[in-house]
Amino acid sequence: MPSPKLKEALAVGGIALAAVAAILYRQIVQKRSPRASWLRTISFNGKWEKFVAVDPSQLLVITDFDGTITAGDANQCHDLVGTCPLLSQAFRDEFAPLLDWTTNTSIDGVEWWDKAHELMLKHGVPPRALLQRLVREARMPPRPGVLQLLEKLAAMNVPVLIVSAGLSDVIEEWLRLHEALTENVTVCSNRLNYGADSEPQSVSPQPPVTSFTKAATYKMAGAFFRHHMARRMIMVLGDSVSDIDAAQEVPYDESLSIGFLNSRPPTAMTKYADTFDAVVLGNGGSLVPLIELVELIEANGRVVEMELANRKRHLKMSRSFADFLSTVDGPIS
Ligand SMILES: [Mg+2]
Repeated sequence: MPSPKLKEALAVGGIALAAVAAILYRQIVQKRSPRASWLRTISFNGKWEKFVAVDPSQLLVITDFDGTITAGDANQCHDLVGTCPLLSQAFRDEFAPLLDWTTNTSIDGVEWWDKAHELMLKHGVPPRALLQRLVREARMPPRPGVLQLLEKLAAMNVPVLIVSAGLSDVIEEWLRLHEALTENVTVCSNRLNYGADSEPQSVSPQPPVTSFTKAATYKMAGAFFRHHMARRMIMVLGDSVSDIDAAQEVPYDESLSIGFLNSRPPTAMTKYADTFDAVVLGNGGSLVPLIELVELIEANGRVVEMELANRKRHLKMSRSFADFLSTVDGPIS
């Protein structure tokens, strides 16, 4: 039989072991949790409180595509076209210097997009008939949670404006592939205008949508914003600090911005935390916390619908009573 001292030592050891196991378990769970990759800045909680009170009719979403809707390490629209083995070697050879970031510093800014589009038109690529295959065979995984988020926003009829310096044709094909090209989604990006021979004839708009010109979004997507002018609670998503510019001219009551750091070095964190209300870490940083917020907004919508239905019912009852009065001749005794 163990002595009282040994019993005490065993008990203390057991408690210590349980405590260590609990800490390890919590760490594992936190690592698995989608929230572990979210860093909320000082502005986030106050804005969250405002957003949980709105209903879907007030909400509008503006989002980047490459590295935001897709994962941080996914192929980006122009890279995808420039490196596609389905396209001619001559085109790829001419496009390659644009993707070599060690030597292409001489072609910077808006000029990069002009040059890229010029080459695509010169070689007549990508042919329209190849677009679907090109996107299907590309490595463009969705960011975790994004398809669920888009599905929910579609069900709630919340307008989503995708503002991208990529290519509308690639983005729409990607959305179609993932059954996410719904009526509430509008793409504001560079569009290839195809001729009857399946080769692109021109690219619009001019000047192109670039990461340097996102501040022009309100002007470029004027019809979209006019149509949805009553929606004044906006969410802005992007993986470049310039993505926030897309909301620059948009009139709103409150905006909630989410930035995706992807694989940028930790030194970029300060800039991201200054720009966005929350920063999501890692190439596969999840959108689950945002889905939870959207679900709360969806629940508010249901409450509003129930209140409206109740009001209509009461209105109907009072009309019935009025009808009753109109059938009565003379004063009721
Ligand atoms: Mg991006």
